[in-house]
Amino acid sequence: MDIAKLKQTLAGKSGARLKLWMEICARCGLCAEGCHFFQSDPRPEHVPAYRLKPLAELLRMNGEVDEAVGEAFMQSLVDTVYGTCTMCQRCSMFCPHGISIAFLVRATRALAVSQGMTPQGLASGLANALEFGNNLGISEEDYRETVEWQLEELQAEMPDAIAPMDKKGAEVLVTFHPRDIKFYPQNLYNYLKLYNAAGLDFTLTSSKGWDSTNIGLFAGDDPAATELCGRVVAAGENLGVRTVLSAE
Ligand code: SF4
Ligand code: SF4
Repeated sequence: MDIAKLKQTLAGKSGARLKLWMEICARCGLCAEGCHFFQSDPRPEHVPAYRLKPLAELLRMNGEVDEAVGEAFMQSLVDTVYGTCTMCQRCSMFCPHGISIAFLVRATRALAVSQGMTPQGLASGLANALEFGNNLGISEEDYRETVEWQLEELQAEMPDAIAPMDKKGAEVLVTFHPRDIKFYPQNLYNYLKLYNAAGLDFTLTSSKGWDSTNIGLFAGDDPAATELCGRVVAAGENLGVRTVLSAE
C-alpha cells in the first residue's frame, strides 16, 4: 500500500462539506427508505449510511492504515463503496440533513483509486473511454456507420430527417450513452426522430467528445473524469454550440 498517497488523497478530499456531512450524520437510517439495494434486500450493510463506515474509519486514523491489515481494509472499502452503490442520490431525498451519500461514496472511491484498486470492470471501461472516447471502445468508423444506418431507417419514415455531423454554429451538441450506439441503435433512431420533429438545430460530433457518461466520475478517478469532461466541453467549443445535451 502507498500510505503517503492515501493520506494525500484523503486530505485533498476532506473539505468542509465532507467533514460537516460526516459529523452530522445521525445514523438514523431514514435514508434506507430511498435505496434500491436496501429495498430489495434489507440488510444493515445496505443502509446508505453504512457506506460511510470505511471513510469514517480512515478519517479517525488520519489515513494511517496499519500495513498489516491495510490490504484487507482497502478490499472491504472497495466492496462497500463500489459493490452496493450506484451513486443514484435517491437516499439524499430521505435524509433530514440532505447528506449526499453519493458525494461521500465518490470521495471514498478516490481513496481506492489512489491505491490502484479500481474494480476491473470499471477500470477497463475507463481505459476504453480514454483510448477510444467512449467506455465501450466503439471505433469512430462504427459510430459513424451506426448514425448513418439509423438516419437511413428514419428517412424512410421522415424523408427530411437529418443527423448533421460536426456542424459549426449549431445550437445544440447532442451526446449519447455508448450503449445506445452499440447495443440499442433503436434508441438512437428515436432520439434523431425527436430532434428532427422538434426542429432542433443540432449537431453530432465525430471527435472523442460524444460519450456523455463520464465513467471516470463514476469510478472516482478525478484526473480521468476531468479529461473526459474536458473532451465534451472542447467538442462543444470547437463547434461553437450554445448547449450540450447530455444523455445522462
Ligand atoms: S445519511 Fe441522513 S438519513 Fe442516513 S443515517 Fe445519516 S443522517 Fe440519517
Ligand atoms: S446513492 Fe447509493 S446508497 Fe444512496 S440510494 Fe443510491 S445506491 Fe443507495
